[in-house]
Amino acid sequence: MSDLISVQTSTEKNYQLHFGHDLSDQLEFYIHSFSSKKAFVLVDAFVLEHHRLHFESALSKKFEELHIFEIPRGEQAKSFNIYQKALNFVLEKGVERETPLFAIGGGVTGDLAGFVAATVLRGIPLIHIPTTLLAMVDSSIGGKTGINHEVGKNLVGSFYQPEAVFADVKYLETLPHKEWVNGLSEVLKYGMIHSPEILEQVNSLLENDEFNNGKAWLPLIQKSAQIKTDIVAEDVLESGKRAYLNFGHTFAHVIEKEGNYSKYSHGEAVYAGMIAAVYASNELGAEIDPSNLLQFKSLYELSLNEITSSPEELVEFMKTDKKVKDEQIQLILLQEPSFPYVHKITEIELINQTWQHTLKIFQ
Ligand code: NAD
Ligand code: ZN
Repeated sequence: MSDLISVQTSTEKNYQLHFGHDLSDQLEFYIHSFSSKKAFVLVDAFVLEHHRLHFESALSKKFEELHIFEIPRGEQAKSFNIYQKALNFVLEKGVERETPLFAIGGGVTGDLAGFVAATVLRGIPLIHIPTTLLAMVDSSIGGKTGINHEVGKNLVGSFYQPEAVFADVKYLETLPHKEWVNGLSEVLKYGMIHSPEILEQVNSLLENDEFNNGKAWLPLIQKSAQIKTDIVAEDVLESGKRAYLNFGHTFAHVIEKEGNYSKYSHGEAVYAGMIAAVYASNELGAEIDPSNLLQFKSLYELSLNEITSSPEELVEFMKTDKKVKDEQIQLILLQEPSFPYVHKITEIELINQTWQHTLKIFQ
């Protein structure tokens, strides 16, 4: 089973996203036309250990030289150190302008390997094979690549679109529950800002005991990817509508930082951040039913009790967010379900209250 989404961007190249369970045939067909005999694979360590045969058997049919570089697990891999090691590897093995690079893993691998592909020889062909739910619905789409800096996350990088994306849910067979939940937040986000039926579809996965079942998720993954694709296609360089994808994220970034980027996953932080954003939206006159999101709370097992900063301090942190302009906090809020808007905060007291409310929910 396979399906396609074509990404037409107004300013950059067009490419296709493939979806399905076991995309080996599609991948083999796709790589057939490459002229290079050599290819690079930058792959997450866990995925290499558990899925090596799956990608190697397809890729080695075409590429006589397949050079595999293992990316250590975890966010720490998005570092200058690993970036440099990966660059050394690719350069020393004789990369050329036409040599493709396959990024196989979650968002960490995609961001790092994407940045290697974007920068080596000023850009070589990049193919994303996302292997987490989050990477399939979010990070492999839209062309953001990069690494972290000690000053903050994702501060060094570039926009670099892939040649193709293969979202093969066969990889998800080994995905642990907490990574499903991590990716779920972005899917719920699309439900909140764009397509409310997504929330019902997640519910029916849960009711049918299919929450960890990649095949059952396929339609939802595809719909989520389509929403991200549509938004990005209109706004490749993030000057307008793409900001809607940050729904919940300004709050989330503070939570992630409070947990030293290790205690709370991005997905957990985004979930709490969306609950905060709904509260703030309602205080400003919207009538969004908070249970749209709260119904999924038990999946998260999230407690924010260990956040010791006061709501006032959390507001100060928000002012340091990468997306802040002139120290003014900019939030994505909802006018009503599926109608996001950008709100420049002048009511600091409202944000204080929002933090109080959110911390209380996750006691
Ligand atoms: P991740 O890449 O760290 O993967 C999470 C964990 O899952 C890792 O331990 C990994 O080893 C494991 N894993 C990967 N595939 C697996 C599989 N098939 N089976 C079992 N385990 C598997 O994290 P993530 O949540 O996928 O991505 C988070 C990263 O993505 C962050 O660095 C974030 O900044 C970035 N991101 C980027 C964008 C973008 O637009 N580029 C968007 C959102 C997030
Ligand atoms: Zn996110």
